[in-house]
Amino acid sequence: MILLLSKCLSEEEKQVIARSLLSSGVRVHFLDGEDGKTILVSEQNFVPESVIASSWISRVLEIGTPFQLANRAFRPEGTVIRVGEVTIGGDTVTVMAGPCAVESKDQLFRVAEVVKRFGAHILRGGAFKPRTSPYSFQGLGEEGLVILAEARERFGLPVVTEATSPENAELVAQYADIIQIGARNMQNFDLLKKVGMLGKPVLLKRGMSATIEDFLLAAEYILSLGNFQVILCERGIRGIEKLTRNTLDLTAIPLIKDLSHLPVIVDPSHGTGLREKVIPMARAAIACGADGVMVEVHTEPEKALSDGPQSLYPEQFRRLITDLEVVSVLVGKELHRETTVSRVVSAQKACPSSCTVAFLGEAGSFSSQVARRSFPEAAFLPCVSFREIFEKVSSGVASHGMVPIENTITGSIHNNFDLLLEFPEIFIVGERFIRVSQHLGLFPGTSRENLKVLFAHPQGFAQCARFLETLKGVRVMNVGNTEEAARRSREFGTGSGCIASEEAIRKHGLLLVEEEIEDNPRNFTRFIIISTYFEALGSHDKVSCVFALENLPGSLYRALEVFAECQVNLLKLESRPHPGRPWEYLFYADWEGNLVEEKYKTLLAELTRRTVFLRVLGSYHNSWKRMT
Ligand code: PEP
Ligand code: MN
Repeated sequence: MILLLSKCLSEEEKQVIARSLLSSGVRVHFLDGEDGKTILVSEQNFVPESVIASSWISRVLEIGTPFQLANRAFRPEGTVIRVGEVTIGGDTVTVMAGPCAVESKDQLFRVAEVVKRFGAHILRGGAFKPRTSPYSFQGLGEEGLVILAEARERFGLPVVTEATSPENAELVAQYADIIQIGARNMQNFDLLKKVGMLGKPVLLKRGMSATIEDFLLAAEYILSLGNFQVILCERGIRGIEKLTRNTLDLTAIPLIKDLSHLPVIVDPSHGTGLREKVIPMARAAIACGADGVMVEVHTEPEKALSDGPQSLYPEQFRRLITDLEVVSVLVGKELHRETTVSRVVSAQKACPSSCTVAFLGEAGSFSSQVARRSFPEAAFLPCVSFREIFEKVSSGVASHGMVPIENTITGSIHNNFDLLLEFPEIFIVGERFIRVSQHLGLFPGTSRENLKVLFAHPQGFAQCARFLETLKGVRVMNVGNTEEAARRSREFGTGSGCIASEEAIRKHGLLLVEEEIEDNPRNFTRFIIISTYFEALGSHDKVSCVFALENLPGSLYRALEVFAECQVNLLKLESRPHPGRPWEYLFYADWEGNLVEEKYKTLLAELTRRTVFLRVLGSYHNSWKRMT
C-alpha cells in the first residue's frame, strides 16, 4: 500500500505513525516525494484514517504486488529519465553503446568516435569489471573513470559505467552520468541502498537467475530511498541452452512494461554472447516494447580485453542503428538522431592527403569521367551499386564518393536521397555537373536496319525516348551503367548496340554511329561528392538539408516562410516518402548560403523549431554558378 501525503511530515510525526501502526503488526517506510511531500509505503494494507488525519492523505494506492513504488499503478504514465539532452523511456528509443571495458584512452576514444558518429546516445564502458575469474582483466578503476569523463567531453555523450561495491559507488557517481549495477550485483542490497541515496540515474541489470519479481524488488530498494531514476536492463538469464551465453528473456519486456512504470532496455550483447545475434535480438527488443538497447562495440573485437566475441564491429553498429530507426516507427517510437549543425561540428576532420574516390561502374561511365575530372590525382574505386559507394565511404575504404543525384531531364535519382538519409555519417562536400551526351554505338557490322538488341542504363533510355521511337522492333535491355551497356554489346556481337558515352563506345571497340541522340541537348547530370571528412566553410554558398514536418495545416508554409524572413534563396525543394513511415514525407531543400555566417545559423535554428526533424546534409560550393 502506498499513501501519498499532502504534507511534509516531520521526523517526530513519522515516528508516531510508525509506532502506532507497528503495534498492530503493520510495518511502514517513509520517503520524501519529488515534490517535497511524504510517501508512506507498507507491505500490508490498513485503514489509514485510523492513524493519519484524512486531510493529510491525498491518495491511497492499494498495490497488489510486493514491489510497491516500482508498480505501474504508482505512475501509470510511465517514468521518463533525462540525462542531459538524452531521454530514456516514453516515446524514444535510446541506444547505449561502447566497449565492454575501458582498456585505454586510445581504445575508448576510437570506439566513442564511431558510436557517436553512427548515432549512439550514451557511451558505455566498464572501469570496474566484475569478472567471473579473478585472473581476468579487472578494469582500469579510477583511471578508466577519468578516461570516460574525457570521452564525454570530447564526444558529447553521457556515460554509463558500473559500480561494483558500496565503496566505489561514490567514486563512480563523481564521473558517471548513469551508474550501472551489474547482473552479479543485482541483489547486493548495500550497493542498491547506496545508489538509492546517491540520487543519480541507475541502470539496474537483471540478475542471472532473478525472477521478474526479484528484479523489480531490487529496483524497489533504490526507489525506496527516493531515487526514482532507475532504468531496468534485461541482459539474459541462465537457462539450459549452451549455444548462447545466456537466454535473453524478451518476454520480460512486455511483462515488465505492464507491471512497472520504469523504463526497460535490453542488452543483447550479454544476452546472447554472440556478435552475429546481437542485431536480430536488438530489433526484436525494440519491437516488443523496450525503451532502448545497450550494446558492446569495439573497433578491434579480436583484441578486446573482455567480451570481444559479442562486440559489434563499427559497421554492424551502423546497421543496427538504421534497423532500429525503422523498427522504432513500427511501435510508435522514435530513435533520435543528432540532426543539426552540431553533427556538422562533430564531424569536422582533416581530409586524408591521399584520396580514393568511389564511383558507380567501370572506367568509361559518366561517373568515372566526372570523378577523374574532379580528382585528377586520386585513386579510383569502381562500385557495383550506389549503396556500395556509400558503404565504402562510410567504412573509410574510400575518402570520397561521386554520386549522381539529379538529371535535368529525368529528374532526381531517388535512391541516393534515401542513402543520404540512411548514412548520417556521410556529408555532401561538393557538387559537379556533367553534360550528358548520349550516343548510339553499334557492334561492327551492325546497322540501324539489322539492330536487334540495344543495351543502356534506364536513364540512358529515358533521356533518348524520342530517338528510341525511331528504332522499330529493337529489344531494349537495361543494364547498370553506360560502360556496361557498351561492354554487353561487345559481348553480344552482331545485331547489338548501346546508348552510351563516347568514351565507353570507343573503349569497347564499337562504332560511334550517331552522336548526341538525347531528347534535349541541355542534358546535365548533377553529381554530389560525399565524404565523412567535412568542414563547414564561410566561403560555401550552398547548403543541403532534409526536414520533416508535423502533419498539420500550414506547417510547410511556416517552414518555408523562414527562407523569406531570412532573405535566403531556396534553390530546390523536393519531397520524398519518409522511409519506413507510410504516407509521411521528407523535404529535401538546397539553399544559397553556408553554415558559418550568423544569418544562416539563425535560419537553421528557426527552421529546426518549425520542423519535427532536420538534418544538414552538407555545405559546399555551388558549382553551377561557377560554370555558368
Ligand atoms: C557489462 O555490462 O559489461 C556487464 C558486466 O554486464 P552484466 O552485469 O549484465 O554481466
Ligand atoms: Mn561485457
